[in-house]
Amino acid sequence: MEKLYFVDPRAEVLDPDRWYQPSLSLVNKLGKLIEESGIMDIVSAGDIVAVKTHFGDSGTTRTLRSVFIRKVVEKVKEAGGKPFVTETTGLGMTRPRNTALGKLMIAEENGYTQQTLAAPILIADGLLGFDSVRVEINGKYLKEVHVAKAIAECDAVICCTHFKLHMQAGIGGSIKNVGVGCTSKQSKYDVHIADYPKILKERCTKCNKCVEVCPSNAIKNFEVDKSKCVKCNGCLEVCEYRAVRVNWLSGKDVSDRIVECAKGVLTVNNNFAYINFLLDITPHCDCHPYSDVPVVRDIGILAGEDIVAIDSASLDLYLKELKTGYIPQQKFWEWTDPIGMLDYAEELKLGTRKYEIVRL
Ligand code: SF4
Ligand code: SF4
Repeated sequence: MEKLYFVDPRAEVLDPDRWYQPSLSLVNKLGKLIEESGIMDIVSAGDIVAVKTHFGDSGTTRTLRSVFIRKVVEKVKEAGGKPFVTETTGLGMTRPRNTALGKLMIAEENGYTQQTLAAPILIADGLLGFDSVRVEINGKYLKEVHVAKAIAECDAVICCTHFKLHMQAGIGGSIKNVGVGCTSKQSKYDVHIADYPKILKERCTKCNKCVEVCPSNAIKNFEVDKSKCVKCNGCLEVCEYRAVRVNWLSGKDVSDRIVECAKGVLTVNNNFAYINFLLDITPHCDCHPYSDVPVVRDIGILAGEDIVAIDSASLDLYLKELKTGYIPQQKFWEWTDPIGMLDYAEELKLGTRKYEIVRL
């Protein structure tokens, strides 16, 4: 039975005669959660510590507020660690979110800077999103995972996850933040797409755009050379004639691959602790360039050291809250299987689905 710690965002009035009660702030409750959960025990003096989060895209409005990440950074420093805040590039080559430079501009636009976070920001998979450590795994789907280099090299990771729904994984929790968010482009491609891209000769106008965007010169005579392709999806992004075709995956095919990628990440670096923020639970992932309204009321923040337990508890708390009927909404996207994802994560020994919640 894995112990998880929980704080509630509701500002119960401790003393009705006093309006100034900073202890009721969720930021301060987060500080207490970090202290009492003991998650900073994974940090030793002098450790380089990644505080992994998601900066959203240009237009996303419900990502984790920077004050929460700043509080985590503060606690890493108190534990003697040297924190940096990190995120990886997105799949593709041309949108701002797909390179480190664009991602840093998005971070600034959404309020994440060295000044607001009190720590430097580093894009973990490098300038174009290929800086990684390759690890072999013997998965049902994947044989290798490309772990973002800064995640592989740092001493500890405090994984800060905005828990929300997800169109392919069902839920976007810690497993997704690790399996997708801590890998480089090649593994993001493997999670979402089966096989290499193909160019349809009958549609191709030979405009050359795919050749120009390809980072590995893998396109010769308007054919993809699989031995050179590094799986960036840039060719699909730039083709205006729908001549580049890929085999997109969905639902359980994606969520099981995410679990296998998480296994790869944790094989390279298993010194992780997790904080799931069950706040602003939107129907979509933060990589969308917008945020829909939350589907339930804010639930709270969970902390612990077991990736499967924390996502299992988050899902259960969400389903319980859903029953209150705050906003009538489907449970999760109908073609997804978040419970199957958690079962597969347990089967791969990433953690346990059995947990106990300690309410602070
Ligand atoms: S971008 Fe599309 S149309 Fe242009 S050369 Fe490549 S496959 Fe052909
Ligand atoms: S051929 Fe491969 S490496 Fe080249 S742009 Fe397409 S996906 Fe990227």
